[in-house]
Amino acid sequence: MSTTENRPPYLDPALPLDRRVADLMSRMTPAEKVGQMTQLPVYSDPDPILDAVPVGSILHTDHQLIDHCITRALGTRLGIPLLVADDCIHGHSFWHGATIFPTQLAQACTWNPALVGDAARATAREVAATGIAWTFSPVLCIARDTRWGRVDETFGEDPWLIGELGSAMTAGYQGGHLDDPDTVMATAKHFLAYSQTQGGRDASEADVSMRGIRSWFAPPFERAARDGVATFMMGYQAIDGVPITINEPLIRGLLKDEWGFDGLLVTDWDNVGRMVWEQKIFGDHAQASAAAINAGIDIAMSTRQFFQGALDALDAGLVTMAPIDEAVRRILSLKFRMGLFENPRRPDEDRQHAVIACPAHQELNLDAARQSLVLLANDGVLPLGDGPAEPRRIAVVGPNCDDPDAQIGDWARASGQGMKFLGHPGDVTTVAGGLAGLLPEGWQLTTEPGCAITATAPDPAGAHFPDGQPRPAITVPAPADPDALDRAVKAATDADVAVVVVGDNVRLTGEGRSTATLELIGPQKELLERVIATSTPTVVVVVSSKPLVLPGCVDDAAALIQAFNPGLRGGRAIAELLLGLIEPVGRLPISMPCHAGQLPVHYNMVRGTHGNRYADLPFEPFRTFGEGLAYTSFHYQDAALEADQITASGVVAATVSVVNDGDRDLTETVQAYVRHPVTPVTWADKELKGFTRVHVPAHSSATARVEVPVAECSIVDAAGRRVVPTGPCKLLVGHSSKDADLVALPFTITDRS
Ligand code: BGC
Repeated sequence: MSTTENRPPYLDPALPLDRRVADLMSRMTPAEKVGQMTQLPVYSDPDPILDAVPVGSILHTDHQLIDHCITRALGTRLGIPLLVADDCIHGHSFWHGATIFPTQLAQACTWNPALVGDAARATAREVAATGIAWTFSPVLCIARDTRWGRVDETFGEDPWLIGELGSAMTAGYQGGHLDDPDTVMATAKHFLAYSQTQGGRDASEADVSMRGIRSWFAPPFERAARDGVATFMMGYQAIDGVPITINEPLIRGLLKDEWGFDGLLVTDWDNVGRMVWEQKIFGDHAQASAAAINAGIDIAMSTRQFFQGALDALDAGLVTMAPIDEAVRRILSLKFRMGLFENPRRPDEDRQHAVIACPAHQELNLDAARQSLVLLANDGVLPLGDGPAEPRRIAVVGPNCDDPDAQIGDWARASGQGMKFLGHPGDVTTVAGGLAGLLPEGWQLTTEPGCAITATAPDPAGAHFPDGQPRPAITVPAPADPDALDRAVKAATDADVAVVVVGDNVRLTGEGRSTATLELIGPQKELLERVIATSTPTVVVVVSSKPLVLPGCVDDAAALIQAFNPGLRGGRAIAELLLGLIEPVGRLPISMPCHAGQLPVHYNMVRGTHGNRYADLPFEPFRTFGEGLAYTSFHYQDAALEADQITASGVVAATVSVVNDGDRDLTETVQAYVRHPVTPVTWADKELKGFTRVHVPAHSSATARVEVPVAECSIVDAAGRRVVPTGPCKLLVGHSSKDADLVALPFTITDRS
């Protein structure tokens, strides 16, 4: 194959893609084809894995082994290059020294699609330099039952905002051209309604109607499909008794036929195997593999028995070559489009040195962390730097004031996921570290964690599994250490200001780590109560993976900041915010309940519920979608529509003046919601359909313009069709999803287009 004369057509880059694919497929055996459809993890010792199955792609590969695996694939009979994939979902977070951005939920707080896109672009550069060409990101699930352990991976609760940010992230990963070796393929996951858990328990049957799917869960995925995301990943859920892996109406009907998606469909981890051992709907792997292939799956992730199962299914006539060829055509087309046959994208040490954690990426990461912070209360204590000129004594207490892993969150380093991480925690700036580095000359800092959040204990089910394997310890609330609590309270008492950093940690986040409650775990509540009860003004900083239920004493704190896992540089960003070196600009992309029993508590609930409170609690959450304060005071005025009779193909546009009454700069996110006074079926009272960020210098004003295509003012009718109701409608413009923050601007959708 070395000379041009005897080079087979599929290796000729001058030939059209279809011709190359057809030529290669004509040379492949059924086993080689099914091998392309198989994706396996390579934690160590790749040769036995690659000898057993001619895999088309690998994941979770020990970083030292990637080059070897790529070389092995190129050395096989047909030399089909390998697709190396991994979960690089908020940075290349298992790679030594790489940039770890705020989690997706934290990035969503920025309401800044351009920034989210830039972070994905930086991640793609770092990831691509290490031989990985495919990331399993973004997550487009809607977070509703926030007891679920994967809320941190989402962009929050709103389908439209998720679509917007997901689109930016995908464009950032994929760049303009898949054959650009500085890009990676993105994955829209987890198709579809995986987050609609029961009781927050991961991977449960998703109790969801087709109307629910079409109205809320599908739109972000539809947008991704239409935007050209290269791959989709299934979730773990079953709907109406049908595991998503074999749900033909959703896979073929909705995704492929209706939305025209022609990219790769990968299962989630061992979905094919799970139909045998977990969901128990097939007796063996041949049947399960056949069903997945027949439903339109292209790649089975991490099911070792898939390869043999699919070949057995072929022999038994459970599947024909047609759907296998269909899948292999898609896999190979993508490999050709990515230019892998010409450039197999080996790890490149020179590029790694140039891009991994380069100054530009670190600065971008700090910017993302800064913009992800949401100020939720402030009686004027913040910013600390605005106070008296004399030196101040700051006590930083709480279990998350100096915990690197709690700060960077899941899918990174200590969070496990089976990936080996060789890094060191020293490069994470925690809140304590951030303040230590930034305190003005002469100020004093005392750090006392006061308590831990969790501890471990033997699993009551026994020390070993039935097969003799050791059973891992379970997570339990950390016991109180009275001396440690006393030290923290004393530090707060002796200070001018106390900063208490509470939250959750990586043992309370992730797959298999849903929480039954949302309360602060361990002695954190006692710590908060005692510190807030001192006469020292107290700033509460919540560093967490998801919205937590905060104890009532927080109402008496001087200030409250929400920091969803803000990444490597998050502690520095928080310190800057506390000291007033930056302005708070984040807005909540998800509501924060005041009790787990309120769930679901998203702002866009369907109308018709009686009353506005339970017998024992209001319906209203603690903080709602879109909220977030500034250090300055400001108001809106002169909101007006540009036109109030608009056709279904038109655009409704409004302008509003944002007046900054204070003496600090403001970055305001002007939000636009649509409310239909009357709908043919019950519908959400309002839905976000646009926003814009506007910078308003101190003591000045700026005009913001928001626009919403009328096509977006749609609802899903009883027949499951998305339609735009004509007649009266309202654009609600303002600061958050709360009615009190919005001005209603009536307009009419005319039926003339
Ligand atoms: C998760 C996916 C992830 C995959 C590979 C699964 O358990 O649900 O989100 O991409 O593992 O790590």
